[in-house]
Amino acid sequence: MPSGNVVLSGNACRQVMSFCSATHAVRRHPQLATGTAQIPEKEDTMLLVDNEVKIPSKVNPKLTLRVLKGHFATVHSHINCYIDMTMLKYRQSEAEEVAKAMANDYQYNKPIDTIVVTDGCEVIGAYLADELKKHGVMSLNTHDSLYVVTPEFGNGGQMIFRDNIQPMIRNKNILLLLASATTGRTIARAIECIQYYGGIVQGVSSIFSASGEIFGHEVHHIFDASDIDDYQTFSQENCPFCQKGQKIDAMVNSFGYSEL
Ligand SMILES: [Zn+2]
Repeated sequence: MPSGNVVLSGNACRQVMSFCSATHAVRRHPQLATGTAQIPEKEDTMLLVDNEVKIPSKVNPKLTLRVLKGHFATVHSHINCYIDMTMLKYRQSEAEEVAKAMANDYQYNKPIDTIVVTDGCEVIGAYLADELKKHGVMSLNTHDSLYVVTPEFGNGGQMIFRDNIQPMIRNKNILLLLASATTGRTIARAIECIQYYGGIVQGVSSIFSASGEIFGHEVHHIFDASDIDDYQTFSQENCPFCQKGQKIDAMVNSFGYSEL
């Protein structure tokens, strides 16, 4: 495979098509179907999405967790599955279903005044506020409407609430909403920050959680590790993929993944 960008046509194109598999090549570069295209260097790699497995929720079959298999690096660990919640967070119909499922966990208990949203779950947060009201969850806010707040994050990863937002946190009953809870570090830090600003954490909800309880707080969730057959997480030093010399497929964080 030549390095750099090349223009392909005729036999050369067909050779590349068979080398990469026609499906991947054409999907990445539809121009290939017409015989000429600019081919970037990474053409011989698989698309991660081709390793996708779809797992329906036990709670609500309308909700599907998409899992990509491979070798991924996070800030803290290496993992063999990337849990792709993009559609659950950003597709309106799916975000609404997630919120409905989450609201069931708060039917009979504590008041909620503010939802603190992280990991790009703002759409779910807005629907969740609506669903909680429908479920009759009490709010102590005088205007009978919940706040849905996205915190700012400092360089050290700590949540920051500016002066105009702090009245929505101080002495308020808080529901912490996040996409994924694996090691529990993020939740622990978020709870600490909310308490620092005077908030009262009444509940934690996550789309995926590796544990039902983290630092004494029950983590309500829709999917957990039992939904994923062979979900494994390793420290960088003990990662079996790295030890075999297998290259990392992508860097991942709460926003998504970047293929390498
Ligand atoms: Zn590794």
